[in-house]
Amino acid sequence: MADVTVYRASWVLPMAQPPIANGAVAVDGDRITYVGAAHGAPGGTVIDLGDAALMPGLVNVHTHLELTPLRHLLEGLDFAQWIRTLTHLRKSELADPADVEVGARIGIAEGLLRGITTYADTSDTAAPIMRAMASMGVRGVVYKEVFGPDPLQCAASLAQLRDAVRELRAMETNVVRVGVSPHAPYSVSKALFGAVASYAIAEELPMAVHLAESAFEEDLVVRGSGPYAENWRSRGIDPDGARARSSVALLYEAGALRARPLIVHAVRVDADDIALLAKSGCAIAHCPVSNARFGHGIAPVREMLDARLRVGIGTDSVASNNRMDVLDEARVAHLMACTQTQSWRTFPSALALWHATEGGGQALGLWDGVGVLRVGAPADLCAFPLDGLAAMPLADVHDALVHGVAGSPARLTVAAGEVKVRDGVTVDQRRHSEDQDRFRLIGNRLVDVRLHMSL
Ligand SMILES: [Zn+2]
Repeated sequence: MADVTVYRASWVLPMAQPPIANGAVAVDGDRITYVGAAHGAPGGTVIDLGDAALMPGLVNVHTHLELTPLRHLLEGLDFAQWIRTLTHLRKSELADPADVEVGARIGIAEGLLRGITTYADTSDTAAPIMRAMASMGVRGVVYKEVFGPDPLQCAASLAQLRDAVRELRAMETNVVRVGVSPHAPYSVSKALFGAVASYAIAEELPMAVHLAESAFEEDLVVRGSGPYAENWRSRGIDPDGARARSSVALLYEAGALRARPLIVHAVRVDADDIALLAKSGCAIAHCPVSNARFGHGIAPVREMLDARLRVGIGTDSVASNNRMDVLDEARVAHLMACTQTQSWRTFPSALALWHATEGGGQALGLWDGVGVLRVGAPADLCAFPLDGLAAMPLADVHDALVHGVAGSPARLTVAAGEVKVRDGVTVDQRRHSEDQDRFRLIGNRLVDVRLHMSL
């Protein structure tokens, strides 16, 4: 019994069942062994969180941890300029994998301070991100990106991906997994989408795709026009090779929906697209802040849920969101859904919170029990204070969390049974301050380069 830790709080939110007043969660090793009333909890070391909401660790279904050092550096750019500037800065200033790893560790530290214990990361570099996840002790999947708009590049791009995945697989653990990501319709040919999907299915690799995000992407796919089409033509690539009724239809025709990908963004989708995604067993990474910042629009979440699509909430990179805060993202998701449907009720705060936890775990579909508190589930927990003014008076714990407490530091974050954050502070302060010192140097260098860049 000595190894059992019992976390008590005024409210426990298991997600899979109704909230429990004066509840407790017991943890033995990396597993949950009890969820229920505090008075019925087993013996062990008691950590009393007081007036707080204890719930599953938050699940971030879309991040780009390698871009953490680029936060605040790409403001005011349109999407095409943003991608160009980001690519330039990454290649010229973030070539050292050690710098990328430090940036990813800082990104994860920020997430842990906001209760995030699971990260679904899309990455070009991949290996430093896996190392960062493993060393920070968090759960995650790294979808290794692959690019190649020219159909003639297909075999070479696939071969490169295979080589990279072979190395990354050696770094896999029970909690850090590898996946693949054919990047987006404006950077990947139809042939490559199909080839990567076949590879993912054969190798049982999860897959993620940025899809139906911008008007420029729609111009390329639907009409063969716009800046991406011009860029393709200037490189001798025929944009007609990417033509389809919609981006979702393009993936379907390429055979890529067979891999049941996690579809990131899905802003520009109609009823037929949603039905096709649902029928194909895909899931959605809903990134409302990033979509809003670029002016891409609001993803039709209510229609997606009505079609029984699995939906999780993602922040996207801090280069397009500026924050790594899933609880705050859930608040924005709620507000956007209200705006879009002109109704308070279509995406209530309890549902937004569910998508930030259990819904996210289901969308990823990689680990049993992620995003819920139940016996046998992984011991990934977070707790937020309810004794601050923003939570008072406490009428409904979900509303208080999503609308009042969102944006606050977590009172507790536990990843795989290990306490990472207590009272809003990282537990391993020594390592955290070393990372911060190095991150500051990287950041200063990037700011200097950015200020002298002409676009
Ligand atoms: Zn993204």
